[in-house]
Amino acid sequence: MYQIQVETHSHTIVSKHAYSTLQENIKATLDAGMKGLCMTNHAPAIPDAPSEVHFTCLKYLPGEIDGIRFFKGAEANIIDYQGGLDLSNSILAMLDWVIASIHTPCLKPASMEEITNTYLRVLENPYVHCLGHIGQQSYLCDWEAVVKHAKEMGKIIELNNHSLEGIRPGAKELCTKVAALCKKHGCRVAVSSDAHYSGCIGNYKLVKEMLTEVDFPKELIVNTSLDTFEAYLKEAKQQF
Ligand SMILES: [Zn+2]
Ligand SMILES: [Zn+2]
Repeated sequence: MYQIQVETHSHTIVSKHAYSTLQENIKATLDAGMKGLCMTNHAPAIPDAPSEVHFTCLKYLPGEIDGIRFFKGAEANIIDYQGGLDLSNSILAMLDWVIASIHTPCLKPASMEEITNTYLRVLENPYVHCLGHIGQQSYLCDWEAVVKHAKEMGKIIELNNHSLEGIRPGAKELCTKVAALCKKHGCRVAVSSDAHYSGCIGNYKLVKEMLTEVDFPKELIVNTSLDTFEAYLKEAKQQF
């Protein structure tokens, strides 16, 4: 059985399509018996997101809240085919954990070659730790090339429970393929809920079923414990 101790992807009411406060998410993390929470709100390019002030002011929040280790993060948007993001490097450098994702309002679908190159360029960004929900039907890419480069660059591929809840067509098949490639190439992954509501924090049921299906090695999951997650962040700081 796969144990997850750190939620690596969560949103709060600073986006109007998310429905819980940070404090409610902290309580949900505690209630789920977990030890860490990454708050990764949408960066400014997506409609309904907070401005960059949300991210620059995270420095005023503590690193621990009610006994939960609190990681200050962002879900940055990939906004062009050169791998550009919607937060400056100086802001990204202030954060503990940065996910970079493609969202439809911020990047139009393109050829497989263009999307592959986009992800490869994002992986070169020293401030990005993780690629978010890459198993998207509208943004097909050469996952093997992306996973291999993520491994080379010491980056993380996200396996996102929210993607498997039927919101993204074909996601189960695509995400299973991504997980199998991560296993094949020894690329580390983060298991996340992508919670837009506190009740989803700690729910990794569908990802866990998928991991069992592909007999995914636990050692490649970066957030099975607070220690492994913190060790990864330390490693990333030295390496990037
Ligand atoms: Zn996303
Ligand atoms: Zn998200």
